[in-house]
Amino acid sequence: MSRYPESVDVAIVGSGPTGAAYARILSEQVPRARVAMFEVGPTVSDPPGAHVKNIEDAEARAAAQRRSEGPGAGEATVDNPGAVKSGERRARPGTFLLSDGYRVDDEDGLPVAAFSSNVGGMAAHWTGACPRPGGSERIAFLPDMDELLDEADRLLGVTTDAFDAAPFTALVRERLAAVVDDGREPAAQVQRMPLAVRRREDGRLVWSGADVVLGDVTRGNPNFSLHDESLVTRVLVEDGRAAGVSVRDLRTGDVHEVRARFVVVAADALRTPQVLWASGIRPEALGRMLNDQTQVVYAARLRDVGPAAAAQVAASGALSEQSGVSWVPFTDEVPFHGQIMQLDASPVPLADDDPVIPGSIVGLGLFCAKDLQWEDRVEFTDQPDPYGMPAMRLRYTLTDRDRAVLERAREEIVRLAKAVGEPLGDRPFTMPLGASLHYQGTTRMGEVDDGRSVCGPDCEVWDVSGLFVAGNGVIPTATACNPTLTSVALAVRGARTIARKLSFV
Ligand code: FAD
Repeated sequence: MSRYPESVDVAIVGSGPTGAAYARILSEQVPRARVAMFEVGPTVSDPPGAHVKNIEDAEARAAAQRRSEGPGAGEATVDNPGAVKSGERRARPGTFLLSDGYRVDDEDGLPVAAFSSNVGGMAAHWTGACPRPGGSERIAFLPDMDELLDEADRLLGVTTDAFDAAPFTALVRERLAAVVDDGREPAAQVQRMPLAVRRREDGRLVWSGADVVLGDVTRGNPNFSLHDESLVTRVLVEDGRAAGVSVRDLRTGDVHEVRARFVVVAADALRTPQVLWASGIRPEALGRMLNDQTQVVYAARLRDVGPAAAAQVAASGALSEQSGVSWVPFTDEVPFHGQIMQLDASPVPLADDDPVIPGSIVGLGLFCAKDLQWEDRVEFTDQPDPYGMPAMRLRYTLTDRDRAVLERAREEIVRLAKAVGEPLGDRPFTMPLGASLHYQGTTRMGEVDDGRSVCGPDCEVWDVSGLFVAGNGVIPTATACNPTLTSVALAVRGARTIARKLSFV
């Protein structure tokens, strides 16, 4: 007996926040629609898709991370982006890297391109930063972008006040604002980072994962089902229309066909094109315009926060698992997205008699937007990957402009570090390519079908009606800001389109 339904209205491939956004909107707008979600990884948290940081027991949390690491489980990971400095290729906990195919010959490649395979996808492990895109990051041909972003905020449970009581956050913003804000619109000024997190009444933080996006309405929907350990190997296409999916039950090895009127592939920016490729759906733009955000990091120690301030911090008991996160928005003139996080420990060794005042170490990160190139792409080979899917090969090079922007980012981060305090370490560190975990462009959206995009403004694949794509791969612009809020917003647009079509059938 198969554990899968024979047919549904909508089959969703992947259970990260973008797949979950489809399930949520469909549950709200067309509750009678039968929706099945397929996820290759196991369920590692409760409710399914919850952030592993919400698991209080450290051992149970580490086990959940390992179970998310697919074929990379058991390999050494690094928790702190600063630790990547060792030059070794290591994944972050909860993620795994490609064992090969991450770089070709003389190209730059994406050596630390990473994946998560678990219910909830990468959002069971993410930082939850949800800034809005600005300037050229925005998709100019979508008139309803702001309303969609509002809806994405609702689905992800985005807040800005969870760290208001954390020490020195206002001071950090004040010092950054003094060197950044001049001449900027209010929306582009230094501010609190919008984060997908809430503080419970007892003070504990609850980080949003795909569980929050699904919400009670989806969990309580009798017409919704979630199938973990289920690899979708192919989308079925009949007469130019999506007709269902072929699923391998990883518990038994059996393969099943599930018929569907609509199929949504939300399998991350590198595996969504893989599923389409494996299905024989190979538009020219598939996998192309791959882009990631190069990243520089640095740290500083807040200036002029002496013992009196430390005593105040101790008295308020305000320090939490992680202190404040501030945002220096991207602009076209200063093309970096700044994520400034106060840390509880210094990333570089300090003298023994020099204790750290909690919240006084500031980690600075600047993300840069990539110069988009048609030749940057994920291609697929005849060799099987560890799941038996066509193995990937990443073709990726930085342009001269990318290198110039990176150099400018290194100068800017030193300026910001000096504005908040005393820089720690001699110079900023440039992260290995792929470290941002924000791969985009591979199933890009276009306003018209001119051969340069995979899907239209409703996320429906140009060549296959009823087939929708979701995730960061859909974003057609080069963003520097964290992309998940934007890709959830785009998923809302696609889900509403399916809901509308289902209401008429
Ligand atoms: P994913 O969350 O990757 O989910 C895709 C799912 O599809 C996976 O669970 C995968 O197992 C499944 N899948 C793949 N192939 C198949 C198949 N063939 N069959 C069935 N299932 C399949 N983003 C931000 O915007 N802000 C941040 O602060 C941020 N911080 C991050 C920090 C960390 C440590 C990590 C790991 C990520 C971070 N990200 C951040 C990235 C963010 O998590 C992703 O952008 C987001 O999860 C993408 O959502 P998604 O639904 O498109 O894909």
